[in-house]
Amino acid sequence: MQFSTLAHTFSLDLPAWLEDELAPVPEALPTREERVALVNRLADRNWREGNGGPFAAIIVERESGRIVSVGVNVVLSNDISLGHAEVTAIGMAQQALGTWDLGGEGLPEHELVVNWRPCVQCYGATMWSGITSLVLAGQGPELEELTTFDEGPMIATWAEDFEARGIRVAVDVAKPEAIEVFEQYRAAIDGGSITVYNARSAA
Ligand SMILES: [Zn+2]
Repeated sequence: MQFSTLAHTFSLDLPAWLEDELAPVPEALPTREERVALVNRLADRNWREGNGGPFAAIIVERESGRIVSVGVNVVLSNDISLGHAEVTAIGMAQQALGTWDLGGEGLPEHELVVNWRPCVQCYGATMWSGITSLVLAGQGPELEELTTFDEGPMIATWAEDFEARGIRVAVDVAKPEAIEVFEQYRAAIDGGSITVYNARSAA
């Protein structure tokens, strides 16, 4: 076996349209509502652009709201199943700060803001990232019902488990707006115009 014949690295690339989308956004988003409104908007544009599913995430400094990183679901555009919004945002923040631990010494507290509750992959990724605050536009069965994505066997105590590890959880900050994004996506599925890349369902 020659190592040189195998891949040596992989990366997740964000789409260029984020430049336009972020241009009018201030450097800091002081309120939770502003942070969530941004991820809902990016989630909506992301599936329309064909990068992946209707998901977006940002990492901000919890107090000031300074935007540290942005992530959208790039599974389709990168051909990597790991490319969920949370993983992308976490990786970009760690790359920007040059650390694997967003909760490391000397750093301000970091908050991950997502348009829906993490899947099983992102549950772990979020737990190990060093963030101390998780804010979700929504959570509940609507995501799987509307989009048909499989979120995996999430445990019922996920929120308590985050809290037990020092990660504060706020849910349902803008649930109707988050659901609206999924409804639009669903209409596109029913119209046959998009690929749900989804992993095999347990069903
Ligand atoms: Zn995920």
